[in-house]
Amino acid sequence: MGTALNDRFGRTATDLRLSLTDRCDLRCTYCMPAEGLPWLPRPELLTDDELVRLVDIAVGRLGVREVRLTGGEPLIRQGIVGIVARLAALRPRPTLSVTTNATALERLAAPLAEAGLDRVNVSLDSLDPLTFKTLTRRDKHARVLAGIEAAARAGMRPVKINSVLMRGVNDHEAPALLRWCLERGYELRFIEQMPIDAQHGWDRAQMVTAQEILDRLAAEFRLEPEGEAVRGAAPAETWLVDGGPGAPGGGRVGVIASVTRPFCAACDRTRLTADGQVRTCLFAREETDLRGLLRGGADDETIAQAWRTAMLGKKAAAGIGEPGFVQPQRSMSAIGG
Ligand code: SAM
Ligand code: SF4
Repeated sequence: MGTALNDRFGRTATDLRLSLTDRCDLRCTYCMPAEGLPWLPRPELLTDDELVRLVDIAVGRLGVREVRLTGGEPLIRQGIVGIVARLAALRPRPTLSVTTNATALERLAAPLAEAGLDRVNVSLDSLDPLTFKTLTRRDKHARVLAGIEAAARAGMRPVKINSVLMRGVNDHEAPALLRWCLERGYELRFIEQMPIDAQHGWDRAQMVTAQEILDRLAAEFRLEPEGEAVRGAAPAETWLVDGGPGAPGGGRVGVIASVTRPFCAACDRTRLTADGQVRTCLFAREETDLRGLLRGGADDETIAQAWRTAMLGKKAAAGIGEPGFVQPQRSMSAIGG
């Protein structure tokens, strides 16, 4: 293997976020507007062969060990099961996971597990169908719950649940969401809302902070921090709940405090958009065009070298909330969340 994806600040990227599509069947208010977005024209998307080749380069030459499929909604990509099977056949085999809204997971969980998917992260912000509809602008709560159950049945454990809390909409649900997850053996992580929505509606003053979430949880649960050693490069800070996973009724909860307690110094990620652009950070303002190289006939080492060079441009920190912070042109669903 050649050199890994090192940056100028001593970090090495081993975790690839791979967007399969910018399209989505939900319209979460913190992510995109009601009318959706101008989707990428299909010819601009990487084909299955192109994305498998790029991941092959990433694992074979660049030291990537973990690949998370995301979007948009990755499960609406045609041929997703075949893509997972081809990625699972790469050597060294990467760990494969998907971040999904789960609307199609009931049908796909078993075939995906069979194809080699190791884990799922499901986004679920509410236990109440009406609040879910307000947040996602779609009436698909029951399908999401059925999808989560199907993932657990298919053996993709632990099922992880991601929740974004919005003030006055679902922030009162934090303890109920945690209780629901503990009862089912799911691992819950709250994500602070970030300024990465297409409609630029983020307002720091309105954001529900990690501290607020923890205060709400502490009113009903006994929380003990797990500390930095456990956190490692993972973005979530985690807490043992009511004695931890070994105790009856206990478990674990995470909070991804990208705004109030950013984890940039330990970041181990690189990103590839559905149209084949490398991004070094969700909040990067530059992209490196690997699709152009691919379609121009470049060999694997040339593409690998372009990826390494891109990583040298990775900034020390995303700088959300700092003076001069500018939201990137692409929004979360177009980058790959
Ligand atoms: N559609 C899939 C889903 O919702 O899980 C995958 C893509 S989505 C962009 C990935 C994650 O980003 C979801 O957990 C979603 O809640 C989160 N997300 C979207 N917009 C966000 C924002 N403005 N701030 C924080 N998290 C956000
Ligand atoms: Fe779709 Fe995920 Fe964005 Fe919601 S957060 S609109 S499910 S891409």
